[in-house]
Amino acid sequence: MTLTEALAEARQRIPPAEVRLLLGHLLTRPTAWLEAHREETLTTDQLAEFRALVARRAAGEPVAYLLGNREFYGRDFAVTPAVLIPRPETELLVEVALGKVGTGGTAKILDLGTGSGCIAITLALESPAQVTAVDISLAALSVARENAAQLEASVDFIESDWYTALPSSQFDLIVANPPYIAADDRHLTEGDLRFEPLQALTDQMDGVAALRRIIADAPSCMAEGGWLFFEHGYDQAAAVLNLLHVAGFADIEQHCDLAGIVRVSGGRRVSENACI
Ligand code: GLN
Repeated sequence: MTLTEALAEARQRIPPAEVRLLLGHLLTRPTAWLEAHREETLTTDQLAEFRALVARRAAGEPVAYLLGNREFYGRDFAVTPAVLIPRPETELLVEVALGKVGTGGTAKILDLGTGSGCIAITLALESPAQVTAVDISLAALSVARENAAQLEASVDFIESDWYTALPSSQFDLIVANPPYIAADDRHLTEGDLRFEPLQALTDQMDGVAALRRIIADAPSCMAEGGWLFFEHGYDQAAAVLNLLHVAGFADIEQHCDLAGIVRVSGGRRVSENACI
């Protein structure tokens, strides 16, 4: 079967752009190469493998897991079903964080629930900061470590349930993209989310449980004047604003995504005196 025929067959089941990505991946060629070699033939094995990939995609498996990688902030990150697939909206969190650490000095940054490591590694590569990243999942940490090695980023990875296993440290900036989908949210049973690690998506409660804990415990690990910023759901801006106030944060900021929805919030730890 020629590439033209194989592409046409696959297009009956999944969108053309995905067809090209999967075939390019299988042949380890850029998608542009396919165009110029449409009359070449696939071996029987290649055709069988291609059909299997198309069938998995047609059954709902995310393209990123089939390809084994996803672009984030201009770099390729390896992903497996052990980690959440990096989302473009999470680049907002990275931008806000970079705005706080600037490009001078060696700030100490902590990334909670690092997953693929995309936030921690990007911050390590885009700033002179010293970055520590934690995750409760050993499988996720191994993906993150592989990404850091591949991208030559220096990040200290620690297995930890949020702050619990951290050596006592005072971070200048804490970032997190925690599970913030409520247990009963129907999105968990739809689309790509069905294939992603549940513990990276939902707190198995109201969607604010992990955020509540991250905010409440942050001050004990933060330098005075340090910042905490996290991503949250489209309808959680008011809830997290309240949590930040209650925990004594000052200079609270809420940042909107491109659709104008508040998706990143945070604030600054001030001294005990300033709180009173
Ligand atoms: N933004 C993701 C989604 O809604 C959820 C990521 C998360 O829970 N941290 O698909």
